[in-house]
Amino acid sequence: MAGEGRNRMGPSGYCVCASCGYRKPHVAGVPCLEEKCPHCGKALMREGSEHYKSAVEKKKRREG
Ligand SMILES: [Zn+2]
Repeated sequence: MAGEGRNRMGPSGYCVCASCGYRKPHVAGVPCLEEKCPHCGKALMREGSEHYKSAVEKKKRREG
């Protein structure tokens, strides 16, 4: 396996809302998905995660 130790998600980072772009520092021990966006009420995603990237891609495609 190449890339071990590189690009691993550590305990720090940001939780972001893929809908409106709201972001807040990730709290250790609290999954981003359990945090809600104060603007849209949607579950936040870990910034840089595959889940987040695909959500952003979809949004981009929709908006052109
Ligand atoms: Zn939002």
